[in-house]
Formats: sequence, structure tokens, C-alpha cells
Amino acid sequence: MVKPFVPQLVYVEPRALEYQKGRELIDKFEEMGLEIKQTTSHNQIRNLPGDNDFQKYRIAKSTLVVGVRKTLKFDTSKPSAEYAIPFATGCMGHCHYCYLQTTMGSKPYIRTYVNTEEIFSAAEEYMKERAPEPTRFEASCTSDIVGVDHLTHTLKDAIEYFGQSEHGKLRFVTKFAHVDHLLDAKHNGRTRFRFSINDDYVIKYFEPGTSKLDDRIEAAVKVAKAGYPLGFIVAPIYLHDGWKEGYKKMFEKLQGVLPEQAVQDLTFELIQHRFTQPAKRVIQKNYPMSKLELEESKRKWKWGRYGIGKYVYQDEEQEDMKHTLGGYIEHYFPNAKLEYFT
Ligand code: SF4
Repeated sequence: MVKPFVPQLVYVEPRALEYQKGRELIDKFEEMGLEIKQTTSHNQIRNLPGDNDFQKYRIAKSTLVVGVRKTLKFDTSKPSAEYAIPFATGCMGHCHYCYLQTTMGSKPYIRTYVNTEEIFSAAEEYMKERAPEPTRFEASCTSDIVGVDHLTHTLKDAIEYFGQSEHGKLRFVTKFAHVDHLLDAKHNGRTRFRFSINDDYVIKYFEPGTSKLDDRIEAAVKVAKAGYPLGFIVAPIYLHDGWKEGYKKMFEKLQGVLPEQAVQDLTFELIQHRFTQPAKRVIQKNYPMSKLELEESKRKWKWGRYGIGKYVYQDEEQEDMKHTLGGYIEHYFPNAKLEYFT
């Protein structure tokens, strides 16, 4: 079992200590005996230890920065929610294909923001604009927030905040099984707790540093028993020899263990593997031995966000994935909702 994350190094912005959460976190890290350094800004961590880029990257991925979120303008988060809510940035996992390779290649350290009340107030404004329509906030657009939440409890606070909200709903997704502290949160059914899952091949070769499938599923069962609406994101769907059988086994395993109450309100999201050229460069630098197939000529080019083109599978391959995995969902979970394939 992958152990809960403990940073090797902690940085703190002086302003973070003006917030109670900032002070509590630093006290906790001092008690844990962690090395704590000051930084003027969470955006500029310089002089991370390490003799070369490879080492620096790994140390950055186990460095936690306690900071204040200045930008309170939220990004949109289609298709899974209306807005991305920023509680953390970065992740301790080492998934080769990770989307963060594109968005934060040069700053892979993990940032947690302590001005949660200000972030909630900003969310409130977005909700007001859309009320009485509900507004969904996605908390895992820039991190795997569950991976760090056993230390920060920011997500737990957010779950309880949205539990009291009239128009807001929270969602997030994780590849970590460290969920015990979230089981007693007063969610009032307003948070959809999702797990990112994949077949054995993808997890074995491309997702080091994250919880194994069986551990994620065991955590999903606990979450369902705690009454949370549950969901699964199958991502990235990756074509490899035996993929149809691999994904079938994954769905079979899931069906074997999920409690009845969970399957009555279950969602699936399907996301095919894609990459950008900037991400490819970062992946090849940081994971030079990766088997991940990143051959542009085999893929279809598609316009992406911020004008960065991405490489997705060819149309026929996409149809095959959608049909195959959609068929498994229909067969094993006839009452579940397939929210989208992208
Ligand atoms: Fe990226 Fe998610 Fe893997 Fe973290 S767990 S490295 S956010 S894909």
C-alpha cells in the first residue's frame, strides 16, 4: 500500500502565517520534525536541492509549499463542472501521462492554500450569478487534492462548506486511498467523490506513487458507505495489447464489491489518453524509460485550451473505446450515468 504523503521539505510564505490554517499547518509540520523554509512567493521556489534536473524534479514533487491563493478568479472546468475551485496545485504522484506536465512543467512542487474562507467567498459570488441553477465546483483540476488532504484537511472543510450550501456542489477525483478523515465529514450528499481508475497495465506501467487499484476500490466502498454520491473516471483510456480484456476485468472487479446503495447513483466519465508537445518534452525528460506511446503520426491533432494542440486517438479508435467501455458500463452498471466521453 502506498503510504500517505509526507513532504521532505516544507516552504511557507510569510503571509500564510496571518491565517489560522497557515499557523496550524506549520505547527503540525514542526511537530512532525519536517524542515521548514521561508519563501517570498509560492510561485517562486528557487534553489531546490538536487544535483541535476532529474533529482530536482523528484524533490520538487515531495516539497509542500504553504501559501496564499491570490487569484480568486476561477477557471471554467468543462465538461465535469462549471468552475475549478483552487485549494491546491501540484501532486506527489508520478503518473507519466499526467496533465500537470503541460500546465505546470516548470513548477512541479505542491502548493496548498490557507485562505480557504476567501476562496469560499469567491465561490459564493459565482453561485449567486447562476442561482437558482446549481453551480458545480471541481476541486481537482490542478492537483490530486485527496493526496495531501490527510495533512491539510482543506478538502474536508470544503466538503462541509458545500454541505451547507444552497446552490453549490463539490466534486473531485483521486488516485489515492487515504480517505478515512473524510468519512465523517458532513457532506449532506452535495459532494460527488470520484476515483480515477484504470486497468492493471496502465496502473502498473504509468502510475507510480499512487494507490493500487484494489486500494482505491476499497476506499470507494468506504466512501459509498459514508453516504457520498460516488463516481469513477476512467482516465486515461489507453490502447495497449489486451486493453479490452483489461478494462473488462476492471469493471468486473468493481461490480463485485460496490454496495447496492452506491450503484443506484453512480457516474462514470471516460477520458481517452491525449498529450501535447510541451508535455511530451517534459515526460521524456522526467521519465526517460517510460513505455508511454507518444507518437504524433499515430494520433489525430485537435485544438486544445490556450491554443496548445493536443494529440488524441484516431476517430475509429475513439469509437471503439466509447463503444467497448460504454458497453461494459451498460452491462455491469445498468443504472449508472455515463456523463461524457472525451
Ligand atoms: Fe497527475 Fe493525478 Fe497522477 Fe497526481 S495522481 S500525478 S494529478 S495524474
